[in-house]
Amino acid sequence: MKITFPHMGKLEMVLTDVFDRSGLDYIVPPKTTIKTLQLGVRHAPEFACLPLKITIGNFVEALGAGADTLLMAGGIGPCRFGYYAEIQKCVLRDAGYKFDMVVLEPPPAGLKPFVDTLKVLAPGKSIYEIWRLIKVSFRKARILDELEKYTLKYRAYEATRGTTTKAYKQALETMRPAISEDEIEAARAEAFAILEAVEKDMGRSCVKMGIIGEFYVLLEPFVNFDIEEYLGHMGISLERAVYLTDWISPSKENQISGISNDEVARAAKPYLNHFVGGEGLPSVGHTVLFAKEGFDGVLHLFPFTCMPDIIAKSILPRISKDFDIPTLSLVIDEQTGKAGVLTRIEAFIDLLTSKKAYKERKSLETVGSVR
Ligand code: SF4
Repeated sequence: MKITFPHMGKLEMVLTDVFDRSGLDYIVPPKTTIKTLQLGVRHAPEFACLPLKITIGNFVEALGAGADTLLMAGGIGPCRFGYYAEIQKCVLRDAGYKFDMVVLEPPPAGLKPFVDTLKVLAPGKSIYEIWRLIKVSFRKARILDELEKYTLKYRAYEATRGTTTKAYKQALETMRPAISEDEIEAARAEAFAILEAVEKDMGRSCVKMGIIGEFYVLLEPFVNFDIEEYLGHMGISLERAVYLTDWISPSKENQISGISNDEVARAAKPYLNHFVGGEGLPSVGHTVLFAKEGFDGVLHLFPFTCMPDIIAKSILPRISKDFDIPTLSLVIDEQTGKAGVLTRIEAFIDLLTSKKAYKERKSLETVGSVR
């Protein structure tokens, strides 16, 4: 069996680590490019959401590279993600590809199917060995997210443009070979030392922006035009609502974002009081929380036809008015051009920058009048 999987940000690092530990033979699909997108668009139904199209493109390229088994996450809830694997299977078989498919359904869909799938992914291992393996691998994945969170926050303060990105790549490579728990913790210390060594100008007044939206668009740099790096270079300090391990963790404590699902649901409640699939509810809740934490603005990204985030988009203007926080929603599909996205984001940054400067001026005037 030569298993493969779709790309989604650092998912490749996490899954290859799991497969190396489980002894499974795997093929990493070629990096997602415009060719991947074109392949997906050619095969997928026209009105499917963008992540389905690109993941089909990943699978086509991986099958071409020799993979014979496709790994896909399943899902429950009122969005199309739960149907992805079935549609991918039908589309690719209709196109003449031969393969097996392994669908990892989330534990709430049934513990037995979940465990049975894990046994396929770790052949010959006992349940205890699988649990250990996942635990250690997940710890490593959490650290990758911690490094990313740090990078998003501090890139805006770098003294020399590009040094944070370079250090971040070096930090990820430091983590890659770590196998044992001791090695992982030692690599973590080294990786953070690399990032912390980047010269920063912490006196710089940076706009603080929260990023919310559909998880695939947020996590996959090809799809979001590597917007986080671009924003960092524009002097915007970022925090993202969704991180990979928070998204896949069954605990719902969300260690990386630091905000539990319950807290997010509570924050969203005055505007949306039930789960609508995908990141619809979290997008609403995180916007409220970003506003309460004093962020200067919120950027909302989601794919064309994404039902959960369309619901969130319809609610954001109310939150924006109630909390006086600007929001910008951008819809992304295969027709979206980078230049158009950047132009709108630049205008948004101008708005946030002048609003922040106005607020700072006002508060100085208030302090002056009190004296
Ligand atoms: S969250 Fe949106 S884009 Fe993602 S699978 Fe569901 S409907 Fe599609």
